[in-house]
Amino acid sequence: MSKTRKRIIVLGSTGSIGSNTLDVIRHHPGEYQVVGLAAWKNIRLLSEQIQEFKPRLAAVKNRADSLGLQKKFSKTGTDVVAGETGLLELVTELEADLVVSAITGIAGLKPTMAALEAGKNLALANKESMVVAGQFLKKIAARTGARIIPVDSEHSAIFQCLQGQKKRYLKKVYLTASGGPFFRLPVNDLAERRVEEALKHPRWTMGKKVTIDSATLMNKGLELIEARWLFDLQPEELQVLIHPQSIVHGLVEFQDGSVLAQLSQTDMRIPIQYALSYPERQTSFLPALNLAEIASLEFYPVDDEQRYPLFFLARKALQVGESYPVMLNAANEVAVTAFLEGKIMFGEIHSIVEYCYRQHQPVRLTSLDDVFTLDHKTRFMANQFLNQLVNLKGNQR
Ligand code: MG
Repeated sequence: MSKTRKRIIVLGSTGSIGSNTLDVIRHHPGEYQVVGLAAWKNIRLLSEQIQEFKPRLAAVKNRADSLGLQKKFSKTGTDVVAGETGLLELVTELEADLVVSAITGIAGLKPTMAALEAGKNLALANKESMVVAGQFLKKIAARTGARIIPVDSEHSAIFQCLQGQKKRYLKKVYLTASGGPFFRLPVNDLAERRVEEALKHPRWTMGKKVTIDSATLMNKGLELIEARWLFDLQPEELQVLIHPQSIVHGLVEFQDGSVLAQLSQTDMRIPIQYALSYPERQTSFLPALNLAEIASLEFYPVDDEQRYPLFFLARKALQVGESYPVMLNAANEVAVTAFLEGKIMFGEIHSIVEYCYRQHQPVRLTSLDDVFTLDHKTRFMANQFLNQLVNLKGNQR
């Protein structure tokens, strides 16, 4: 008897989460059917993925690329569409059981929203969507009945710990952070770190944006805001622990003093597989966790504001809420991009974000249009400040 395969759409298929998702699928033959793939620029890898997984539809950024791929795969049954319209068409029109949302940054928001609007279950890896529009996404999901399953390892951990538990017994939620590559570096040496150093994450292999966010700990700040919406928590119910081994991914403390935690190998394919198979579990193809070998697990508070100023800004944004997280995310995206392009030094990521934070005039967000308007405004402001920084450096030379 042939089993029905779960039909999967992967948005951002050539990125780190996307490639890992396809690897999980590859290791479970007969369980999944990839029906849609979307990638913006890495056409070579996408072409290989189309060849291997034979989706019904693929989406790319440029018309020229879509035509090229269409020609190449005209006989294999894959249609290729282009641009944002094509991407939204793929999300909306294709029949699927799960959409893996793994486009980085606010660029992932519209397709994420479209998936929920279409009532499709979502495996959410695009944390920025939740950060800037959590309240709207939750409302859409409640209306259409679509389920949001977290892919982010910490949120997957919390999600797993909460299975079968009553919300009223929950006391606190702890997300863990590795501390990033600069955890043990003297604070005074942080400001001038370069891209190559910041990209060397001690534990996780991830996309570039999230790796830089891990070095500044902004990633954990964004994850707090993400958790606030995913699990409907108050800011004071959310805590972060630095845990350099990255084996414990999240913990839930209950009113009766019990703490449940989820532990696993430091490999994104574990939370990805859980999101794909949920509510079932599948046998892992990865090496088992060997705690005797790891021997010790350490935990530290995040109390060094000088080392992690962006984390503390994010905490403030979480507390104030409303438009602050949107501003924070936009400023951070501009700053991290500039850092990745070698335009600024590590410490200047914070300067840009802090500048926008100080200049920010809170607004009420009543719709996603408000979110996009504020996002554009903040990017403009962040870029102006960035240009001043860059010009200043040019003059000093
Ligand atoms: Mg994470």
